[in-house]
Amino acid sequence: MFNAILLNKTDEGVQRQLTTVSDDDLMEGDVTVKVEYSTLNYKDGLAITNKLPVVRHWPMVPGIDFAGTVSDSSHSSWQLGDKVILNGWGVGETHWGGLAEKARVNGDWLVKLPENITAKQAMSVGTAGYTAMLCILKIQQHGITPDMGEVLVTGASGGVGSISTRILSNMGYNVIASTKPGKESEFVKSLGAKETIDRAEFSEQGKPLAKERWAAAVDCVGSHTLANVCASLQYGGIVAACGLAQGMDLPATVAPFILRGVTLAGVDSVYTPKIIRETAWTQIAEHLDLQALEADTTEVTLADTIQKAGELIEDKLIGRVVVNTQS
Ligand code: NDP
Repeated sequence: MFNAILLNKTDEGVQRQLTTVSDDDLMEGDVTVKVEYSTLNYKDGLAITNKLPVVRHWPMVPGIDFAGTVSDSSHSSWQLGDKVILNGWGVGETHWGGLAEKARVNGDWLVKLPENITAKQAMSVGTAGYTAMLCILKIQQHGITPDMGEVLVTGASGGVGSISTRILSNMGYNVIASTKPGKESEFVKSLGAKETIDRAEFSEQGKPLAKERWAAAVDCVGSHTLANVCASLQYGGIVAACGLAQGMDLPATVAPFILRGVTLAGVDSVYTPKIIRETAWTQIAEHLDLQALEADTTEVTLADTIQKAGELIEDKLIGRVVVNTQS
């Protein structure tokens, strides 16, 4: 038997509890992992609070990512004792996830934990940080270099936004961070942002084309914010869009695309091919100050997770939250 957060759909709605389950309850897979750390991601918050229908199989152990050690394997790539990371692949949505002491998954979904990263650091990065790196890879592949101009990050105090800000700043880009004035603004400046902008400037309907400002952008917010980001990209610029914190809609015009040749690049972390995942994790190990990130990370236990998920969805958390699943 082992501890897990379990979500169950009943006639009274979704029940959530920390409980014990058995190995026999685990879903199909060829690798069993002793989970050491998981992250509390935005999607986990949505799943645990049931704010959006993230969970599509009941009962469900949430947790879209984890880092840990292989405890059993019939997969040719993985042996007992291997250190691994998992992000996405429907884990925590359609397949039991990382907010438990154990997980059984398809070995093809796993990535080797880079030598110089601990399980806790990997989950301080989490799916948010891995997604941030996927966004940055899109910007780099587009040929954007630091000398080409400012890079905007929206939702900058959140998981994806804060790690995008850290990595881009470390790479030498001039990051302008869109966030809330006050403690969020101070926080993102401490991560290396050159300047902050009140996120309210982007949150209402704007003009089809605005002053050209950003060489590139990472957008975690969607809706009017993404529309305004597209309208204010420089000629030939790119926005890597990964999030919907303001909304899933996109009330934009085609003007920035057909008159300024800007690129709207979608980023999906869940089904990204393994080769790109490995590149992302290697780049994270190289360009992210993991000690600094760990210092801004709060560690919680499985028992704290349900309450913290509510706080995350109410936009009350700053910094990263990792879950020590063995404590
Ligand atoms: P967080 O909750 O950590 O951060 C979201 C941030 O967005 C907040 O911190 C806040 O930043 C900003 N925000 C929140 N509400 C609003 C609002 N109403 N209007 C404008 N800004 C708002 O989430 P993550 O960073 O983990 O994820 C960010 C987004 O990316 C989410 O929508 C998530 O679902 C998505 N995502 C997508 C992935 C993919 O594969 N495409 C993978 C991972 C995440 P501030 O206060 O600084 O403005």
